[in-house]
Amino acid sequence: MKAEIVAVGTELLLGQVVDTNSAEIAQGLAELGIDCYFQTHVGDNPLRLAAVLGQALVRSDVVIVTGGLGPTEDDLTKEALAAVAGKRLQLHPEALAQVRGYFERLGREMPENNLRQAMIPEGAEILPNRVGTAPGVYLKVHGAHVFCLPGVPGEMRAMWKEEVAPRLSRLAGGPSVILSKTLRFYGIGESALEERVKDLLHGENPTVAPYASVGEVRLRITAKADSPGEAARIIEPVEREIRSRAGRFLYGEGDDTLERVAGRLLRERGKKLAVAESCTGGLITHRITNVPGSSDYLRQGWVVYSNEAKVEQLGVRPETLARHGAVSEPVAAEMAQGALQRSGADLAVAVTGIAGPGGGTEEKPVGTVCFALATPGGTRTWTARFAGSREEIKWRSASEALNLVRLALLEERETP
Ligand code: ATP
Ligand code: MG
Repeated sequence: MKAEIVAVGTELLLGQVVDTNSAEIAQGLAELGIDCYFQTHVGDNPLRLAAVLGQALVRSDVVIVTGGLGPTEDDLTKEALAAVAGKRLQLHPEALAQVRGYFERLGREMPENNLRQAMIPEGAEILPNRVGTAPGVYLKVHGAHVFCLPGVPGEMRAMWKEEVAPRLSRLAGGPSVILSKTLRFYGIGESALEERVKDLLHGENPTVAPYASVGEVRLRITAKADSPGEAARIIEPVEREIRSRAGRFLYGEGDDTLERVAGRLLRERGKKLAVAESCTGGLITHRITNVPGSSDYLRQGWVVYSNEAKVEQLGVRPETLARHGAVSEPVAAEMAQGALQRSGADLAVAVTGIAGPGGGTEEKPVGTVCFALATPGGTRTWTARFAGSREEIKWRSASEALNLVRLALLEERETP
């Protein structure tokens, strides 16, 4: 089966929006073993859009269109498809119910415009949109299978996964289930992780693919099978092997984050946390409180950006500041100890560092960040060097602090 992708939108042609949808769809097609021969960008112009669709129908078995399903005058995908297929657009009751349902859930009146989103070419099937308003469309035209998906990436992604990929898999005569599991790692680089699992990266079923983002790496294990249970059984031994090789670097799976995992451990252990932040400016506390229910374990956070605040708020000694500087392990230690005592928490984490771009010295370059973790049993400190922009250094510092909390709780669990 040959496929092609058509991304619709004048904003794509102007370079105002980068076409990430086509890249994601292309990856999805590749996972299904379907060859993708063309990707086209076309503007919100009825004639050019119809011309592109007409050409696509003739040369491909599957055409995936993204964008132009919105309620406004310049959303023309369905009109163009209907024109090329020689069909009329008609009001589709189920589509209308879905669009209305979306507004009802939000408690809003449906604007007249949105009726357009329920106009579907005769004979087409609708693809439910779980995330937004516009239903997708599936139509077989001149032997080609055409799928029209929304342009908004989150909507496109959900519809691809839930509606399009399963249908294409069946059309391609392949297995009906594609199941992925993501494992998440912190504290190990992409290449070091790849080194550990190299022999597992060349399998065909499941496939294992690494992805890196700021400060963390993921491995996605994907299995194809005829049932979800069978797919899970294909993933299981590979997952077990990766887990045993990655040890503590593996912190979670699926949509786990360091803050969620650290929070889960705090809750399990019945421990309260305090946070003392300098260079992260509240980011650690922000990330912790992004997790619902974090009031169960977060006792208090301080942003002590100035030396004065470190002294007044947390009892850091002026001598320590004068002798070692604000970015030093002794200052981090006193920040953590002060936070522990003053909050009455069970553990406290502290961060002080140089996020840049200015402020670095030869001895303490930009990206030098000192950490301390205090418990009633004692205080541990350590210094990291991070690369990247100011924002990235802040993010990495927050991740490191959250990971220190995670590791401290894991250790505690092992020595009851
Ligand atoms: P809407 O209901 O929002 O109008 P739509 O299906 O009509 O959705 P578009 O109007 O084409 O979609 O695009 C909506 C937004 O989605 C665009 O402004 C753009 O930010 C984003 N978008 C559209 N196409 C793509 C694409 N190919 N890749 C990434 N983002 C895209
Ligand atoms: Mg639109």
